[in-house]
Amino acid sequence: MVDGRLLLDGGAPLLPHLRRVGVEAGDIEAVFLTHFHGDHTLGLPPFVLHRVFVDQRPLTFVGPAGLEERLEALWAVSWGPDWRRVMRPKFKVKYLTARPSGRVAGLKYETVKLDHGTSGCNGYRIHVNGKVIAYSGDTEPTAPLDKLVDGADVAIVEATGPGDVFSHMSWEAAASLKKRHPKTRFLFNHVYSGTVPGAVKDLQVLEV
Ligand SMILES: [Zn+2]
Ligand SMILES: [Zn+2]
Repeated sequence: MVDGRLLLDGGAPLLPHLRRVGVEAGDIEAVFLTHFHGDHTLGLPPFVLHRVFVDQRPLTFVGPAGLEERLEALWAVSWGPDWRRVMRPKFKVKYLTARPSGRVAGLKYETVKLDHGTSGCNGYRIHVNGKVIAYSGDTEPTAPLDKLVDGADVAIVEATGPGDVFSHMSWEAAASLKKRHPKTRFLFNHVYSGTVPGAVKDLQVLEV
């Protein structure tokens, strides 16, 4: 979450998690999607259900090309014919293909194409209250990742696991990325193996 109103990807079970960290699901104005892998998108359907029936404030999705087609297919899989017939007409949604730079929900952003799997991943630099937040989604530790985090105040970057992590960044590569950008505060996420001393707990809120 950024500023209580932007969501960066939507893989987790969003409604219970948002409630537990004190965020009102209807307050979210925009969702930035880095790519369409299930661990980044499959928490979205119940959140969309909420935005269709409970809180109908407008919502914007920003993401890679094919965004509308991919997400509408996900909603259709989730609810079958009732999606188009009953729910879609109530859903105040805008789908925006991310541009190299643009504005969403009153905030400036830039997109950096990162290396991840076959279709790649959109990293975003978002300008909030005079600060820059960089968010990688999933990526190998290649040159575009350095471009993404360069000069950012805060970088939320994946560090999947120790050793060889296919199409992702290892802990070792994450440590050297951090060393190359000493002025940036790094928050590492997407950890799927191993344990890290001093790591935050699930659903712990960090004020940055
Ligand atoms: Zn992925
Ligand atoms: Zn992932």
